[in-house]
Amino acid sequence: MKTKILQMLRQQGEGTYRSGQELCRQLGVSRTAVWKYIKQLKEEGYVIEAVQNKGYCLLSAPDILSKSEVESVLPTRWVGHPVYYYDEIDSTNTQAKRLGEEMEGKEGHGAVVVADKQSDGRGRRGRGWESPHGKGVFFTILLKPEVEPSNASMLTLVMALAAAKGIEKASGLKTAVKWPNDIVIHGKKVVGILTEMSAQIDYVNYIVIGTGINVHYREFPEELAHKATSLDLELERQGLEPMVSRAALLGAVLEAFEHYYGVFMETQDLSMLAEEYNACLINCGRKVRVLDPLGEYEGKALGIEARGQLMVERGKEVVAVSSGEVSVRGIYGYV
Ligand code: ATP
Repeated sequence: MKTKILQMLRQQGEGTYRSGQELCRQLGVSRTAVWKYIKQLKEEGYVIEAVQNKGYCLLSAPDILSKSEVESVLPTRWVGHPVYYYDEIDSTNTQAKRLGEEMEGKEGHGAVVVADKQSDGRGRRGRGWESPHGKGVFFTILLKPEVEPSNASMLTLVMALAAAKGIEKASGLKTAVKWPNDIVIHGKKVVGILTEMSAQIDYVNYIVIGTGINVHYREFPEELAHKATSLDLELERQGLEPMVSRAALLGAVLEAFEHYYGVFMETQDLSMLAEEYNACLINCGRKVRVLDPLGEYEGKALGIEARGQLMVERGKEVVAVSSGEVSVRGIYGYV
């Protein structure tokens, strides 16, 4: 109900009022019920003006990621319906996996788990993801797609493209992708993505794609400071006001994901997305160091091919690097 009230007040446009009577009629509830929900919204931090004979007007919304806030700004058809919100959770990926297990068949496909804080945020290969209260958007999309298990890892790159585009739309900042799935601004990491899957040999039970976006971080632990940044820090560096709403940002990223996922599913590979992905790829045409557990080497990154492998010119040959066990760095630093 709160979601619907927020949607209706938002549709109303700035500075105009929605009459209480109309809210009651459209929602099919009493005046007292509407008043009760408005009161709850005010307690959550929404500034709603009530004027006699005119109605209600939403003046400002708090920067929260509650279920009603996120759902009321979601422009998607199926991604994020529903949203599961937690003030704090161990890891949104872990919670999405629990939901994936609990829900039978295709139920839960497209659900999004969002948290304000993760107590055990995870990155690739057992590494951690700094996820303090109020500073970022930590979310996981649960998917139960009809894809070959061997094609699933490409969805990480689909998410990276979506995050890059969504951030640009919501903040105006120019982003770049560091292969395969980090988003960087001004050479520092602003997004991390972790994709996990439950599958049988030829059948995917579910896939969870977790994303952490650094939004309001002002500082980072010492070991991250040289390679991490946030949207606020980057906006300020450019002399712009840091005013990104986390819910609107999430909405923009999920909308982009829904679009790119649709394109991916047409061919179950990145053939129709590689060009757009490569246009965002910071490594393209640059020297990189490939941290292969079998031996590090240097080469020039050329871009991804249709399955998301990074083509690297190594001496006279071109090798295809898979993301599984390998990290890529710039020659002098992180990118
Ligand atoms: P690479 O492939 O470049 O080695 P990765 O993509 O495997 O990195 P991730 O799994 O995306 O790394 O993220 C985990 C790493 O990110 C951690 O080891 C840590 O160094 C760094 N990290 C942790 N929290 C944050 C954060 N909030 N912002 C930026 N970087 C972070």
